[in-house]
Amino acid sequence: MTTDSQLIDRFGRRVTYVRMSVTDRCDFRCVYCMSEDMQFLPRAQILTLEELATLGRAFTELGVDKIRITGGEPLVRSNVMTLFQSLGALPGLRELVMTTNGSQLPRYAESLRRAGVRRLNISLDSLDPDRFHRITRTGKLAKVLEGIEAAREAGFDRIKINTVAMKNRNDDEILDLVDFVVARGLDISFIEEMPLGEIDDHDRAEVYMSSDEVRERISTRYSLVPSTATTGGPSRYFKVSGTDSKVGFISPHSHNFCESCNRVRVTTEGRLLLCLGQEHSVDLRRVLRAHPGELEPVKQAIRDAMAIKPKGHDFNLAAKPVIMRHMNMTGG
Ligand code: SAM
Ligand code: SF4
Repeated sequence: MTTDSQLIDRFGRRVTYVRMSVTDRCDFRCVYCMSEDMQFLPRAQILTLEELATLGRAFTELGVDKIRITGGEPLVRSNVMTLFQSLGALPGLRELVMTTNGSQLPRYAESLRRAGVRRLNISLDSLDPDRFHRITRTGKLAKVLEGIEAAREAGFDRIKINTVAMKNRNDDEILDLVDFVVARGLDISFIEEMPLGEIDDHDRAEVYMSSDEVRERISTRYSLVPSTATTGGPSRYFKVSGTDSKVGFISPHSHNFCESCNRVRVTTEGRLLLCLGQEHSVDLRRVLRAHPGELEPVKQAIRDAMAIKPKGHDFNLAAKPVIMRHMNMTGG
């Protein structure tokens, strides 16, 4: 394969990483991500698995070397394993990774590894079954813990837990969650909640917990050493001294990461989103459907889109959400 061009935006940032949301549906209804009563998209509006595979090929031919599959919950999409197999076989793709809630991993962990998925991010906000159920509204902790074990046995290069830190919701479990990853040789990232979509459970500003507060809490038990490690994403990492684990912080509010942004997203409907916190986008589904099976038109649309990648996001928890998209549409 030849990398026939690089995707470079107006600010000189090179785009090498794409996150694709393969479904807006999910078996959970996490309180920060969705409202309780969600309307999901009709099937005709979401990209087919073939269209997603075509996009994967187009991006890698443009120099993208990392693809993250996300959602919604990627593993609830039927036949999604065929997509992993097509993407896993793409020349030029250095890393195929996925973010999942873990509920379907007991069934799929091994096939994912075989398809070429190298690393997994698994979301886990609580180790208490009742609280886990309250936060996810439908989730069963035991199933997710079983999923994490299945992933460990399948031999992924690295498994990282993702935790949205929320004051008075799960902040008393921060140390327990770090203990959990340290005992298993996993990593963990703590995420500051982002104002994406209207939710009915809580006031986002009220539960907001900054990464610095989380870090202070962890420092009461562990020594955190700043690390230069990067997975090419927005996390800032610290090594947990004397262990194999790293702790990361995704801090869209307190440490803006836009300057080094190397990524774009494709929503479930095939909208190429140039920034998580802005609406600048290009309709790739229209291009794909106007030229079925052709690569060049969609590659050109992606190249052209670099001209509208915004400088950065502008999140404000105190204001009403400007971004009406919920995270399940965009993909985390
Ligand atoms: N369903 C999968 C999961 O939960 O891992 C993948 C999609 S989910 C949208 C991806 C990540 O986004 C999860 O780690 C979740 O905790 C995070 N997330 C969802 N809504 C968020 C919000 N409003 N602010 C910050 N993180 C959020
Ligand atoms: Fe589903 Fe993930 Fe959103 Fe939770 S965060 S509702 S698991 S898409």
